[in-house]
Amino acid sequence: MKVGNQKVVSLTYELRENDAQGALIQKVEKDRPFVYLFGVGGLLPKFEESLDGLSVGDSFSFELSAEDGYGQPTKEAIIDLDKKIFEVEGKVDEELVKIGNQITMQDQDGNPLDGIVLEVTDSTVKMDFNHPLAGMDLHFSGDILDIREASAEEISHGHVHGPHGHHH
Ligand SMILES: [Zn+2]
Repeated sequence: MKVGNQKVVSLTYELRENDAQGALIQKVEKDRPFVYLFGVGGLLPKFEESLDGLSVGDSFSFELSAEDGYGQPTKEAIIDLDKKIFEVEGKVDEELVKIGNQITMQDQDGNPLDGIVLEVTDSTVKMDFNHPLAGMDLHFSGDILDIREASAEEISHGHVHGPHGHHH
């Protein structure tokens, strides 16, 4: 069996900045593998493309440019927000609204959006909503541990069920 659409793929990976010698950003090991339903579009397209067709036991190692990763940071993603937004019962939580803190906000559609506090004034809070990996070239390496057919239920839900998957 090969990695492809409607397969449930278990893998380990290391994510490093720039190249194989770059700073380690994330490491997923055998005891808690990354398990996902291939082809549902939840991952970077180039990441899926690079794994397509691999078999159990295969290793992979590839680089994604920032453009194929999380894009370049933009000025538009740095926003001055009215400090009142952060008020709860008329008071701003100074422990939360602090330079360097990550706060989960919502976009216009109600989707969660993480931002980092850059600056706090008397009336505004400047936040950076760029993806933390924006502007970075990414290097992935790892091993394919397991491949199985997705169940009809998994395909209709668009996610994996079972031990490392989604629990209802
Ligand atoms: Zn489900």
